[in-house]
Amino acid sequence: MELIKVSKPFIDSKEVEEVSKVLLSGQYVSGKKVKEFENKFADYIGVNYAIAVNSGTAALHTSLAVLGVGPGDEVIVPPLTFFSTVTSVIHQNAIPVFADIDIDDFCLNPLDVQSKITDKTKAVIPVHLWGNSAKMHELRNICEKANIFLIEDCAQAHGTSYRGKKVGSLGDIGAFSFYATKHMTTGEGGILTTDNEEWANCARMIRSHGMSGRDDHIVLGYNYRMNEIAAAIGIVQLEKLDYLNLKRIDNSKYILDNLKSNKPEWCVLPILNNEIEHTFFWCPMLIDEEKLGMSTADLVKKLRRLGIETRHRYNTPLYNQKILNDGSNPKLKSRRYYSLSFTNVEKIIGKVIGLPNHADLKTEELDYIIETIRSI
Ligand SMILES: *Cc1c(COP(=O)(O)O)cnc(C)c1O
Repeated sequence: MELIKVSKPFIDSKEVEEVSKVLLSGQYVSGKKVKEFENKFADYIGVNYAIAVNSGTAALHTSLAVLGVGPGDEVIVPPLTFFSTVTSVIHQNAIPVFADIDIDDFCLNPLDVQSKITDKTKAVIPVHLWGNSAKMHELRNICEKANIFLIEDCAQAHGTSYRGKKVGSLGDIGAFSFYATKHMTTGEGGILTTDNEEWANCARMIRSHGMSGRDDHIVLGYNYRMNEIAAAIGIVQLEKLDYLNLKRIDNSKYILDNLKSNKPEWCVLPILNNEIEHTFFWCPMLIDEEKLGMSTADLVKKLRRLGIETRHRYNTPLYNQKILNDGSNPKLKSRRYYSLSFTNVEKIIGKVIGLPNHADLKTEELDYIIETIRSI
């Protein structure tokens, strides 16, 4: 059997046609494709405004800049996520403050977030990790009481909903990525979602050199614009998103439900919460290494030899990353991030893998994955 890939992009002649049209039109930036994509994405998420940018990191950075997060402000983040959730805070000269996660959803633990709030805290960035949703009801209450902003990192949760509302509409601003491996892609790209008109206008300025007019630079901006070619791809991808998510969900549930009935002792299956429509960016499985008698890294290699590619990432708690601890930024050095240790993070770090679940998998391939796991 050919290697079963863990993810793949879904591009067909429709995207190719739309890109060709843009290329031949001669208008590559600030045109009608970006506007159309923004309107459609805002409708899809259920917010008033969407502002397209050129990466998920740019979306996070712009969100923080829009909300006025600046030098010395503290922003609470999870230690288990892609690192740019953290670097976007540092780029604003603000201080990342880590809080523990929960084992049931791998997302921020609201009680621990509460305990990390100080009079310097300006925002919390929950990450909806691997297609799940963080506990937004609790987080929202905490942020409202403390009068701090709630920025959702939705880079792994396009279409995920929590109590019937899509993530990206639950906080003050949502930030999405359209990087090649995400639920939908524009090659590179990102978008902010919000109901607040003033923030939307400010985000539009920040993404385009802080300009209010052709020659007027009134805020510190960047070149974070999404181009028309990317937006044309995004419009087609957005049309496919629900279908692709449905297949992702079905494939993940097929694997997990089948495993449930006759599961090797070393597999710990995810706990699903019926208030959340999980979109399974990953089909996650926690590994009990003691029962398996093998490290997760070795399991990943073994599965690969058996023809199954898996995801295995964020294997270092982010508070141990070199750049936070090497003294290159004295303000960060004094935080002694390396001395942190969070119970739940340390319990699961490096021990979660993501199984293949993309829309193109055939039933035989899903059955092969199930049988292979049972045989180990
Ligand atoms: C992918 C990702 C980002 C960054 O998005 P880019 O488009 O790669 O800049 C941020 N946060 C999380 C959780 C991600 O998965």
